[in-house]
Amino acid sequence: MRDLRLLPKAHLHVHFTGSMRPSTVADLARQHGIRLPEGVTTDAPLRLPATSRGWFRFQRLYDAARACVRSEADMRRVVSEVIADDAAEGSRRLELQVDPTSYAPFVGGITPALEIVMDEARTAGRAMGVSVGIVVASSRMRHQLEARTLARLAVKYAGDADGDVMGFGLSNDERRGRTSEFAYAFRMARDAGLASLPHGGELLGADHVEVVLDQLHPDRLGHGVRIVEDQRVLDRVASAGIACEVNPASNVSLGVYQDDAHVPLRTLVDAGVRVALGADDPLLFKSRLVAQYEAARNVHGFTDPELAQLARDSLLASRAPRSVIDAALVDIDEWLMSPPEPSDS
Ligand SMILES: [Zn+2]
Repeated sequence: MRDLRLLPKAHLHVHFTGSMRPSTVADLARQHGIRLPEGVTTDAPLRLPATSRGWFRFQRLYDAARACVRSEADMRRVVSEVIADDAAEGSRRLELQVDPTSYAPFVGGITPALEIVMDEARTAGRAMGVSVGIVVASSRMRHQLEARTLARLAVKYAGDADGDVMGFGLSNDERRGRTSEFAYAFRMARDAGLASLPHGGELLGADHVEVVLDQLHPDRLGHGVRIVEDQRVLDRVASAGIACEVNPASNVSLGVYQDDAHVPLRTLVDAGVRVALGADDPLLFKSRLVAQYEAARNVHGFTDPELAQLARDSLLASRAPRSVIDAALVDIDEWLMSPPEPSDS
């Protein structure tokens, strides 16, 4: 049993608001005189049915947490803490999703909101030894014109350096909005060299993943787990080299699967799909990055060489600078050559 915190990895699926420490949300709520709903303050992981009602409850808790972030200082705190928490879990590369719209009113617009996130990502990332890329995420709940505005903003700040915007995403309830309406925004992003990183194959099945593939041409799928429901789509994703950002704790919390054992991690890996494990919204799912690797080990029986391969795949699916990936790959081999600690069981 080698220490999974010491295994170098990349964290490719985590949202700005959902990354917050519960203690930070509580602290910010106190500062701003906000009363938080119990679902945010409890230590218990969220458990909801995968229905529109369940999603509505999730969204309500999420919105309550988001409402606690009300200044540049708050935003910088969130970014520096997610980087610190990632660093403590062996993450060498973090790709953080943010929709700057929510924070724009407090800092003078979406442009300064994004610039604050980027600047803190660069500074804190350098201080803590984590390479950080920013994914500007649009929402299915909003009008397609808003997605285009965000795509234009993302394009303006596109780059390969730490703190730059490297991807464009699409989040929220997969059952809402028409995927084809976001095609234009995604084309703008792709034309500027940004990675296409929409959610898909989470709350809808393989049929919708095909629409996402045809309309948004993803480099990676946020979740993507439900491609296992159709062998043809599974093969298509595998042969196209599209990675899946798999978030086991999220899937269980949001009722996509009844428990960890039902998350089709093994099926995806066996089909040749590149998988990058992620935490999605640890604030509400009470489970961070290393816990996803622990689930792979303890629930799905992944051996240390297989866990090392998951970590390699997370890095190879990232947009990290080549030097970051190469250094991490060397250290992954070293991790694997280190003597395993005796297990207590
Ligand atoms: Zn997500």
